[in-house]
Amino acid sequence: MLFSSFRSLMTVGRRRASAYLLLPALISLGAIACAFLPPPPPPPQPTSAPPVSNLPTNTVAVESPAATAIVPTNAPESGLPPAFSKFLSNVTVSLEGDFILLKSNGLPPHGSPYFPHGDSLYEAYTDPDFKPNPSTIEAQNIVLQIPLHPQMATNHAMTPMGPIGMALDGIPFFNQYAANHQPATRESVGFDQYGGHPQQQGMYHYHVEPYYLTGLNGKDSLVGFLLDGFPVYGPEENGQPVTNDDLDAYHGHTHPTADYPEGIYHYHITAAMPWISGDEFYGIVGKVVSPGRP
Ligand SMILES: [Zn+2]
Ligand SMILES: [Zn+2]
Repeated sequence: MLFSSFRSLMTVGRRRASAYLLLPALISLGAIACAFLPPPPPPPQPTSAPPVSNLPTNTVAVESPAATAIVPTNAPESGLPPAFSKFLSNVTVSLEGDFILLKSNGLPPHGSPYFPHGDSLYEAYTDPDFKPNPSTIEAQNIVLQIPLHPQMATNHAMTPMGPIGMALDGIPFFNQYAANHQPATRESVGFDQYGGHPQQQGMYHYHVEPYYLTGLNGKDSLVGFLLDGFPVYGPEENGQPVTNDDLDAYHGHTHPTADYPEGIYHYHITAAMPWISGDEFYGIVGKVVSPGRP
């Protein structure tokens, strides 16, 4: 075994030696051949803007390859509302009839202590109150189908366990409950520096403000959409915190926003429970096409 590898190394060495001898001859042959060939096609142009580092300045995961690969805009497909161009490029947004499909592999573009140690996205969280759960982040196949034209429901559906929507960075929003309909407040000691944690199948998710996105775009910015197609905004408006008292039972209200100047119903994330939505959706829900694993 060892001997044969040694022999193949020797062979490679010999080949390389003869290549050196042949090189000048090949170059001149190449020059002749090139004279008769059409010029090579220009190199392909990048289809998107060059990667930019969009991590909040207080993080150290600058060298993470995924973080540098994320571009803050998703090329809008014709027919999609402009707000959907705000999904980061790790989310695939497409139009299918009267629905918008949101696809993500569920891997956050930011660091987390829930990545395995040694992973380039592993980022420690040193808050003394942080009590991580035993799960690690694993890639998922998340596909949500949400209405293109969101409408208020007459019978409001309960928010399910698992994904209730998707944040602009491809991470699913979960409701305010843990297993057995227990409020997820007890789990909150396990939320990392970006407000997320993985469940037992390794699906990373947010029950609370997605700090990575509000760090990027501001506390009053659009942070994602729920399954009923209505947008979700951060915890501030006009420089003031939004509280549960400002919102209805579904956790939203209607007025013009930067992305919807005509006015739209929208959810707000609050610092207090239930954080993202009430027990029921405001609008007619789409569906979770795929919550499974790849
Ligand atoms: Zn959870
Ligand atoms: Zn609002």
